[in-house]
Amino acid sequence: PPKSSASENKGKSNGVLGKRPKLPKYIPPLLTGVGSDGDDSKSKSTTKKDAAKPIDERLKNVEPRFVEMIKNEIISEVAKVTWDQIAGLDHAKSTIMESVVWPTLKPEIFKGLLTPPKGLLLFGPPGTGKTLIGKCIASEANATFFSISASSLASKWVGEGEKMVKALFAVARVEQPSVIFVDEIDSMLSQRTEGEADHHRKIKTEFLEQRTDLKKLMKRLVAGFGRSCTYIPLPEASARKAIIVHLLKDTAHELSEDDVDDIVQRTDGYSGSDVDNLCREAALGPLRDIKNFAEVSSSSDIRPMKKDDFLDALTQVRASVGAKDLEGYMKFEQEYGSIT
Ligand code: ADP
Repeated sequence: PPKSSASENKGKSNGVLGKRPKLPKYIPPLLTGVGSDGDDSKSKSTTKKDAAKPIDERLKNVEPRFVEMIKNEIISEVAKVTWDQIAGLDHAKSTIMESVVWPTLKPEIFKGLLTPPKGLLLFGPPGTGKTLIGKCIASEANATFFSISASSLASKWVGEGEKMVKALFAVARVEQPSVIFVDEIDSMLSQRTEGEADHHRKIKTEFLEQRTDLKKLMKRLVAGFGRSCTYIPLPEASARKAIIVHLLKDTAHELSEDDVDDIVQRTDGYSGSDVDNLCREAALGPLRDIKNFAEVSSSSDIRPMKKDDFLDALTQVRASVGAKDLEGYMKFEQEYGSIT
């Protein structure tokens, strides 16, 4: 069965950028390409059945082992994600609706001036909802979801990264509409080594040795997306509040609106994923107060969450955005900034 690698590295604090970068010079730490490639409009009516045939005309120049690997390991099932699960990011959401979802659903309308971009590229700090958006697009547009991590490209396909990416795009065209999700590009390139597991460091070293190959790979990726880049920033106060309120919805708590607002203020600089972790940590507070767990018979025996639980959790769960991360991002930008 297809397996997903998109979630393998959740919650990692890698490259982080606090401010909106200059788009033309910025290289995405994470790429999400969406939609139909303009040069292949004839295949709009392609069905998954066509793609399952052993040799598709459009794949004749691609080594079968790559196609096999992509079908087995890179195409993944996606749980349904809806737009209302994604807090904030209103601008990004509406751009995506107009330029990706609607054109995919009604290609006959999006012609001439309305011709959609060839693809869409999302980038920004980790834990800000890029994966969620990719999955949401895949759900809304009934798209095939391709998920690959930079480390697997580096470790499994050393020296062949470029071929692999080419094959990926070819299969994505056949299977379109497609969402291609590339995770971990920034973490693989950041200079940070402290606290890293040895295997990760080893993969990274190999990865860095493949820089030239990687640059080509990235160029190909970026070219494949056209020039439609959307920055996905850290969540603003209103988005953090929406995440917290949503997570508190089904849990007993006695936080007032002011309490929530105060927590929102204290989480300035937190990513969506940090806020999520904070709430989950806070939810353990009431359980930790229980003296004898065996006596708990139902959730009504557990006290509601209160603000102190959040204050305690705030000492445990910090923003994954740090100066080091920022530095890594900047280096990354300097080094790869000329690609676009
Ligand atoms: P990214 O792909 O940008 O690294 P993800 O989409 O994987 O981040 O987000 C990780 C988790 O953080 C999500 O599963 C969700 O729980 C939470 N999260 C992040 N951003 C948002 C957001 N804008 N709205 C709601 N939840 C979010």
